[in-house]
Amino acid sequence: MAKVVCVLYDDPVDGYPKSYPRDSIPEIKVYPDGQTAPTPKSIDFVPGTLLGSVSGELGLRKFLESQGHTLVVTSDKDGPGCRLEQELPDAEVVISQPFWPAYLTRERIAKAPKLKLALTAGIGSDHIDLQAAMERGITVAEITYCNSISVAEHVVMMILSLVRNYLPSYQWVVRGGWNIADCVTRSYDLEGMEVGTVAAGRIGLAVLRRLKPFDVKLHYTDRHRLPASVEKELNLTWHPNTESLVRVCDVVTLNCPLHPETEHMIDDAMLAKFKRGAYLINTARGKLCDRDAIVRALESGQLAGYAGDVWFPQPAPKDHPWRTMPHHGMTPHISGTSLSAQARYAAGVREVLECWFEGRPIRDEYLIVQGGQLAGVGARSYSAGDTTGGSEDAARFKG
Ligand code: NDP
Repeated sequence: MAKVVCVLYDDPVDGYPKSYPRDSIPEIKVYPDGQTAPTPKSIDFVPGTLLGSVSGELGLRKFLESQGHTLVVTSDKDGPGCRLEQELPDAEVVISQPFWPAYLTRERIAKAPKLKLALTAGIGSDHIDLQAAMERGITVAEITYCNSISVAEHVVMMILSLVRNYLPSYQWVVRGGWNIADCVTRSYDLEGMEVGTVAAGRIGLAVLRRLKPFDVKLHYTDRHRLPASVEKELNLTWHPNTESLVRVCDVVTLNCPLHPETEHMIDDAMLAKFKRGAYLINTARGKLCDRDAIVRALESGQLAGYAGDVWFPQPAPKDHPWRTMPHHGMTPHISGTSLSAQARYAAGVREVLECWFEGRPIRDEYLIVQGGQLAGVGARSYSAGDTTGGSEDAARFKG
């Protein structure tokens, strides 16, 4: 029987919800490319309830305990001696969400001799040292597509809120003001702007599709080019690299995974190639950007705004400069963990665990690492190596 350790974010400060604003959520059965949504044999949770926090337990307890497995759920994941580290020596499965990542560094993997499966309840397994996982033969899987559309919606919201100067204008109202001139001296229309995505995978393409009706000019760069029919339908301009794209775009959105090839791709040198006054939206991973270079670009005016929900490390220490830099629209990492998304990734986790314990193969589209190498989606979209360096700084959030 296995020990499953599940690292989830804390419950709301006022306690686990007793009711919700809405009574149901739409059921998505098939994603835009035809991939089916998760297909577990059954679920033990109500879709639309809070599953991603500690008391939600991803709806897994009944299922696991009825089969004799042990489930440990904790939010205590950072710093020496944290609960996660205490549980690692006999854990077979570690489940973690990118929003509150259980960093599985090489050192921690060495403390987990029985670990066989590292499962991401969401998308993006960069919190795991994939190189060390490959060397140890650990399977790494994530719930591909579960929240890609959730993020694409968030990207559109953030683009509009930056370009139209929504957040500062809202603050004037809350403060009792009517300062129209203060609000509009940084407010523009999106119409007619050049908008580009770095990566046109599930999220990037969904962003392009959602922006088309805004009458903008759309650009993308990706390692694999989209079908010509899609380029034509959306009137896309393809760029061979990020540098070429940022030179012409007013708005840039990052939608690639974090892996050694993409770490710190947006640094001082790259930012110098942006158009002055560009907006940068990053809901992919904080470490795609050089933290301090972003601050410098906002302070100098090279960037007119920066928004996103991803930081490094997570949770971001209280003194992380992105909390206080000018013209930002940052939130905690929330875009992929709406109640709607949680229902899908909780079902996906259940599907993967059913496969794992019954000895059935995990869907290829969920695999990142298997059999000592990148596999499935991981083989297409990641590069080998490790991007967890510096993650121990997450412990400073507590301190
Ligand atoms: P996909 O795998 O569908 O798309 C990733 C795309 O990135 C692929 O098209 C891939 O290209 C491309 N890519 C990889 N490396 C590069 C590179 N060096 N340069 C340009 N493009 C590159 O994943 P999703 O769209 O669903 O998700 C993307 C990322 O978004 C996730 O990995 C995760 O980090 C983040 N995310 C954030 C969430 C949040 O809550 N904020 C939630 C979900 C995801 P190709 O395959 O053609 O090689």
